[in-house]
Amino acid sequence: MKMMPRVLVVEDEEAIAELIAVNLRHNGFQPTWARDSETAQRELDAILPDVILLDWMLPGESGLSLARKWRKDLRTKSVPILMLTARGDEADRVAGLDAGADDYIVKPFSTKEMLARIRAVLRRRAPEQAGGTVAIGALLLDASTYRVTYEGELLKMGPTEFKLLHYLMRNAERVHSRGQLLDKVWGDHVFIEERTVDVHVKRLREALGAASVLVETVRGAGYRLTAQPLAAALKKNAAAQAC
Ligand code: CA
Repeated sequence: MKMMPRVLVVEDEEAIAELIAVNLRHNGFQPTWARDSETAQRELDAILPDVILLDWMLPGESGLSLARKWRKDLRTKSVPILMLTARGDEADRVAGLDAGADDYIVKPFSTKEMLARIRAVLRRRAPEQAGGTVAIGALLLDASTYRVTYEGELLKMGPTEFKLLHYLMRNAERVHSRGQLLDKVWGDHVFIEERTVDVHVKRLREALGAASVLVETVRGAGYRLTAQPLAAALKKNAAAQAC
């Protein structure tokens, strides 16, 4: 089953929002409407969308200021933002892009153009999630053939463990909180408890066997995949002896 991309529509004019939502729905997208910045923030806190359509002129906090804020936030920083604007001036367009918008659509726009631009930003972001091989030491993951090997030995794991490993390998050495992993691997943390992450990390370690030392638990912070597990283990031992 193909997932319907979620689109958060931040637009204060109901008629425009409704028109956008209807067209998105008819074209395989899942729209959510927020009429102001507070609602938009609440929606974002609850579910991370695949794309944000953001009106420039909003009551209260402007779209421009929201774009800037969301770009700085670790959680929302990689969600593509398309600015909806009645301002076609070059200076304004530049300001929108400078604020972190991926693209802009000048009102009035055709729904065809809007859909084309949404698909384009999704395609541009897709390479990050797409196939290819990732290697951390002797651990090799090939996303196109769905194979994981360690020192040449094939490892078997479930689809969630595979996705989790893929994400950890692509973002190695960084510590990921359970909440971040839920967002990135599960895509929607609303109905899943953070404990679920621990269950899948445990299963992943079992599947990895000897390579499981690469997956570190960072106390109070989350998980990390590291190419230098030995150095970390030695440091831990040294610390333990110092106590
Ligand atoms: Ca408006």
